[in-house]
Amino acid sequence: MAKPRKYTSDVIADAVRQVEAARATGRRGPISTVARELQLDRRLLQTWVTKARARATTAVPRADVGDDLVVLPDGLLHCLFCQQPMTAAFTAVGLVYDCPPPCRRPPLNAVAVAEAVGQVVLQHAARLVPALTHPKRAVIAAVHAHRLIARITAGGHPTDLRITWPATARPRHALTEELRLARQLATTEPARAHRLLQSILAGVDPAATAISTLHAEAAHLLATLLHGIAAIRWADYAHRSLTHLQGPTAPPTLTAAHTLATAHRQAGHHQRAYRLYGQLADHLAVTVGPDAHQTLAVRATSALVLHDLGHHDAARTLLADIISRHRRVHPGHPATARMTDHLDRLRHQQTASSPALVGSVLGGRA
Ligand SMILES: [Zn+2]
Repeated sequence: MAKPRKYTSDVIADAVRQVEAARATGRRGPISTVARELQLDRRLLQTWVTKARARATTAVPRADVGDDLVVLPDGLLHCLFCQQPMTAAFTAVGLVYDCPPPCRRPPLNAVAVAEAVGQVVLQHAARLVPALTHPKRAVIAAVHAHRLIARITAGGHPTDLRITWPATARPRHALTEELRLARQLATTEPARAHRLLQSILAGVDPAATAISTLHAEAAHLLATLLHGIAAIRWADYAHRSLTHLQGPTAPPTLTAAHTLATAHRQAGHHQRAYRLYGQLADHLAVTVGPDAHQTLAVRATSALVLHDLGHHDAARTLLADIISRHRRVHPGHPATARMTDHLDRLRHQQTASSPALVGSVLGGRA
């Protein structure tokens, strides 16, 4: 007698899906048909289908979900077999998602679907959900699904869900084209560039990490058009994503690090900016060299932030050192003059504030 074959869960799930698809289209004897097509034993396939149905309809809701009504946002959930929106209905086995006739797909336990959708939301946009420690957080998260997901297509069981993201719903070359256009418009028509970038990044949570360079680059450009916390959020997303996608010292990652440091500096986060400029200068020292113009320029900016932090003497000494080094290594470079202007300004601030300080001390004595 032949040894029974082993089947992976993928093979089983796929066979069950084919049976449900055949049934949904109204074919007669779907199990026999699919068994023949896949050269499977008909009775074995029958047990797989029976088990899958039992799982789909009686998947036990988590005890802590209780009797809460769990419904996904309207129009989000679609049936894989008939492509129609699925609706929630109360049945003997509780709340389920089902299709109107003639679709004869297996109904899905609504709580189990909401849990699965909620897990996706938490994974991609935890910030959308206010109470993360709440025991029903996955189900609560599912209520926010429409804010980042364009469409959910449900297969034969509650975790067989295909997620359609708004941005990826458009063909990739269209997004690439929009990003190229946004780059062109960034300086001349920033408002239009801003709208294009927002559309590319629709549904993207800046707290997550991009899986495509396209999103990271769009976020980076968007950060340069924004101010304050919004700029920091997208610059942080771009930097984190590019670090992950291309490595911490890749040129695009270093450019994003510079944008992030600048965003923090502009928002008055001097301590954070100082640390980021320092890290960036260290990376540049390794990649383009300690005396490269780029490295020295970042160190000069870092000296200015040190001044903002109140370390005036140290900042001026540091900047003077950087200027003499820059002048020596890059004779005639226009940036040397700009750095010198900054140093003069710092010195002037010092001499302008000193008499005031003396004055106030004298005034106090008078
Ligand atoms: Zn259907």
